[in-house]
Amino acid sequence: MAMHAESDPIRSRLDLQPAGSPELWPSIEWFASDDESIVLARNGRDPGHGVDAIGTGPATITTLLSVQRWQPRWIVSAGTAGGFNARGGHVGQVIVADGPVIHHDRRIPLPGFDQLARGGHPSADLRDVATRLGFVSGPCSTGDSLDAPPADIEAMAAHGTLAKDMEAAAVAGVADRLGVRFTACKVITDIVDGEIATAEEFRANLATASAVLADAVPALLADLPA
Ligand code: SAH
Repeated sequence: MAMHAESDPIRSRLDLQPAGSPELWPSIEWFASDDESIVLARNGRDPGHGVDAIGTGPATITTLLSVQRWQPRWIVSAGTAGGFNARGGHVGQVIVADGPVIHHDRRIPLPGFDQLARGGHPSADLRDVATRLGFVSGPCSTGDSLDAPPADIEAMAAHGTLAKDMEAAAVAGVADRLGVRFTACKVITDIVDGEIATAEEFRANLATASAVLADAVPALLADLPA
């Protein structure tokens, strides 16, 4: 997970206790259940800037070092995301990833490198689980900006993105490379193609969306195939 505000409600809901940090990158924080069957890995605060280390770079490092330490059977990229009016999105909606997760903001029009830029690493097929829990399953995509310039909007429309975040594709890439099953669970905080400015809408809805996430993630974890 990327942000304190997103992860603190889940920590208390699942009673996850501090479980150390990687020696190499001590700003990453781990929190574990008693039996260590669930570990929450948080990017932590960037030591230079003092804010939550959001985005794909920190997400990659956190995922890599967390797999090395905990050897999980599943990785879940959990957090908030932007949704789309045009595709039925609304604030508070819970999205579970379906299909490949792409980087919608990386463009390298050279053979081979175009696909490298896109990423497109798989997520597990959890459509039945999502339906049972009352969540929506659908395409997720990732970019390193909170805004969405026209080229990104176009890439997300072509992908059918239901959840636009800043981490999932990076986490999926590491999970794929290391052979760990992956999914993303995102709660919508803001509507990308809506009237309200993204940063303002995000701030207004972060607390309520994080509360929804604290219900959704434990339910999803309990229903993941063994
Ligand atoms: N802290 C900043 C903004 C956080 S960025 C502020 O207060 O303004 C948003 C974080 O939530 C990222 O980790 C990202 O994964 C997720 N997110 C929520 N809505 C998003 C959107 N519309 N676009 C991209 N990421 C979004």
